[in-house]
Amino acid sequence: MKKIEFNSLSEQYRHMKNDIDEAIKSVLDSASYISGPQVTELEHELCDYVGRKRCVSCSNGTTALIIPLMAKGIRSGDAVFVPDFTFVATAEAVSLLGAKPIFCDVLNDTFNIDPDSLEEQIIKVINDGLYTPRAVIPVDLFGQPADYNRIYDICEKYNLFILEDAAQAFGGTLDGKKCGSFGEISATSFFPAKPLGCYGDGGAIFTDDEELASIMESIRIHGKGQHKYENVRIGFNARLDTIQAAVLLTKLKYFDAENKRRNEAAALYSELLNGVAETPAVRHDCLSSWAQYTIKLKDKVERDSLSEYLRLYEIPTMIYYPKPLHMQKAFAAEEYSQDDFPKSSDLCERVLSLPIYGYIGDEIIRFICEKIYEFFK
Ligand SMILES: *Cc1c(COP(=O)(O)O)cnc(C)c1O
Repeated sequence: MKKIEFNSLSEQYRHMKNDIDEAIKSVLDSASYISGPQVTELEHELCDYVGRKRCVSCSNGTTALIIPLMAKGIRSGDAVFVPDFTFVATAEAVSLLGAKPIFCDVLNDTFNIDPDSLEEQIIKVINDGLYTPRAVIPVDLFGQPADYNRIYDICEKYNLFILEDAAQAFGGTLDGKKCGSFGEISATSFFPAKPLGCYGDGGAIFTDDEELASIMESIRIHGKGQHKYENVRIGFNARLDTIQAAVLLTKLKYFDAENKRRNEAAALYSELLNGVAETPAVRHDCLSSWAQYTIKLKDKVERDSLSEYLRLYEIPTMIYYPKPLHMQKAFAAEEYSQDDFPKSSDLCERVLSLPIYGYIGDEIIRFICEKIYEFFK
């Protein structure tokens, strides 16, 4: 059998090579490397796909979080609620603006922010009186939307706005609505390994609010006003390259088929691993886009030895995430203790992500599952 890859971007490229090469070549020939027509075309297609009025493409998923927070005037003294179990960028964007990320525990089954913990943390911040609660950034972790129905109620009650972090969830749905359409603003990433990835860094912001979209477009290009050399606010350079837009326009045509294949692959894993390891739960009203297929083991020892065992057969695995955000030095870990967010800390010790991508073969999944059975024997 050929070498197993965790996420085979080369296989994906081979699958669409002619289309991609042509799309990139057309940008090279036009020499419109920045703000070429493909960028606007992509924004329109992404709006249609996600079901939003406006899309502001940008340089990566992190700037897709920073720009909305800037547009909403998030600053020092503000509290923004984020899950404790996520990629660092979710909380980093908040800190970068001088505001305080307030961590919340997550749900053991979906890995997403726990609405009960969210409400507890909001009440705690209000009672402490040190920070003003302003926003929540729910993350659609590993491809599955957070519990927006409950989060909407809580945010309405405490007057907070929602910035959806859909960096891992392009293509996921809740009640038939696409990730990227929840809350006032949504952010996504086109980092190569995400469900929809480009060939470098890229990201996008979605909203239905025209005025907010205009402010975000301005921030993306140095706070421009009517033209490039009129500057009405402080922004920065956070544009998406034309070549990346051309790659994304091409990849978007293949996206639904890939998403379908990732779902089939996840279903096969879950069928074969049933009763062997704890397989990931997808809520009945959700569809995951399977950025990761993540199982849970009994404890850290079992998780680490399974990963070692699979490595003997050259099966790559990853740990998303080995350390909860509240224990990261960058977020003043000394203010917290390990058991402040028990479910998040527990997941960090027990999760293991297995290879999954839009072109993975059944034979690879069967081989991996066989080795997992062997390990438990
Ligand atoms: C990848 C990711 C980001 C950041 O995206 P980049 O494009 O790498 O900047 C933000 N949030 C989450 C949850 C992510 O997984």
